[in-house]
Amino acid sequence: MTNHLFALVREGLPADTAKTFIETPEGRTYSYADLVARSGAYAAALQGLGVQPGDRVAVQVEKSAEVVFLYLGAVRAGAVFLPLNTAYTAAEIGYFLGDAEPAVFVCDPAKREALTDVAAAAGVRHMLTLEASGRGSAAEAADQAGAEAFNEVERGADDLAAILYTSGTTGRSKGAMLSHDNLASNARTLREYWRFTPDDVLIHALPVFHTHGLFVAINTVLASGSTMLFLPRLDPKLILSLMKRATSMMGVPTFYTRLLKEPGLDRETTGHMRLFVSGSAPLLAETHREWQARTGHAILERYGMTETNMSTSNPYEGARVAGTVGFPLPGVSIRVVDPETGKALPADTVGMIEVKGPNVFQGYWRMPEKTAAEFRADRFFITGDLGKIDADGYVHIVGRGKDLIITGGFNVYPKEVETEIDALPGVVESAVIGLAHPDFGEGVTAVVVPGENPPDEAAILAHLEGRLAKFKCPKRVLFAAELPRNTMGKVQKNLLREQHAGLYA
Ligand code: ATP
Ligand code: MG
Repeated sequence: MTNHLFALVREGLPADTAKTFIETPEGRTYSYADLVARSGAYAAALQGLGVQPGDRVAVQVEKSAEVVFLYLGAVRAGAVFLPLNTAYTAAEIGYFLGDAEPAVFVCDPAKREALTDVAAAAGVRHMLTLEASGRGSAAEAADQAGAEAFNEVERGADDLAAILYTSGTTGRSKGAMLSHDNLASNARTLREYWRFTPDDVLIHALPVFHTHGLFVAINTVLASGSTMLFLPRLDPKLILSLMKRATSMMGVPTFYTRLLKEPGLDRETTGHMRLFVSGSAPLLAETHREWQARTGHAILERYGMTETNMSTSNPYEGARVAGTVGFPLPGVSIRVVDPETGKALPADTVGMIEVKGPNVFQGYWRMPEKTAAEFRADRFFITGDLGKIDADGYVHIVGRGKDLIITGGFNVYPKEVETEIDALPGVVESAVIGLAHPDFGEGVTAVVVPGENPPDEAAILAHLEGRLAKFKCPKRVLFAAELPRNTMGKVQKNLLREQHAGLYA
């Protein structure tokens, strides 16, 4: 037996391990040989601290190459890697550490003092530091431990490799338990589906505490022995300048809308690129069209979750259809069912999206009841996302079940209303939500971000009246300078609902 996930890294190693794995904007490079040596050093350091297979190694640190080596070190030591959002406050970290009970917690040195008490309360045995520059007591422990080659701790396909907390868009984050094969199988699938080879150079400007930047991007690069240009954050001008020698980029929709504001974005600057991937939140069809008009590239949109890794993707060859998330990935089954009865629905009918495959997680950490409630008897996972599969097999996401509006007994899918509003000149974007209403149960409400020469409430309502059934038309249209978004670019509708809760009272 081997270490199932690290075997993927060994499989992907380029013939010449002096090849660059990570390059930073300051011009620091880390080779594949560095990756093997340094992750081995972290693995040895963790073992030296008494970390046993299955122990959690929690980290809340800024992005750096060292975090990637720490992640792989934890995997090689047989531990469970547990990254946490850098935006979490001490109180939030206290909750996560208490829930996960890690043996080791690595944090930014600047936050060490503020986090000492919550770490102690959670029973953390060792608290180490790592800063954005890659230095800190964790790096020093690796320096001291890491002279010799490390033999991986054996781990099988079903053993846990990571616990990743969901983004908390709809409520408190849940710890998704991901096995070695959940991660390895998805990386192999994406490498093949998106045609990653050692010649690829990926622009990586996503955070590394979320599934998109950590597993989708990094594991696909590892599986293919390619190179990453590792940016601390979204920097549109820097990204444009890097495109001349990169081949691919993975981003959330905000990346694309921000890059579209750069006058330098054109066919020439993107001429060396072969692939633009978008996910984590819906990409507006408008953004897809504008991007294609400016660059000649059709953005490839895909769909996944913390719990499922990636489940669907638009095709590499063939039509990448705006407003859809493409086809189930090879080996992944997707069905759309009636949420009440669980019965499969015919094509083009909106219902609950359910997923089954080697990508689907092992359950929510320490939440057996929630886990049981989210799986069907035949092991399909109930995603909570509503959508449909069209006659050509493309999956469409229409929104989250929790955002569905029921008004006067009728279902309203916010996306249908948002699409109509967004198409109006003078509208940047919109979010449609349901608010408690004395007569209708919920009242359809639009929050609109105005652009230049925006229409007013009456004009928007007049436009919608001719196009949507009366029950779908908003009772009120409100305006806001921007929509609340979390770090992954997801619109936080729960905040909008709280903010406007009393509107119809
Ligand atoms: P929480 O589960 O804690 O409320 P979250 O669901 O936002 O947070 P993630 O696992 O990061 O946490 O996000 C998964 C969700 O993101 C999906 O269930 C889906 O709603 C949304 N999503 C991901 N990709 C797409 C996409 N291409 N189009 C539309 N929605 C997407
Ligand atoms: Mg979710």
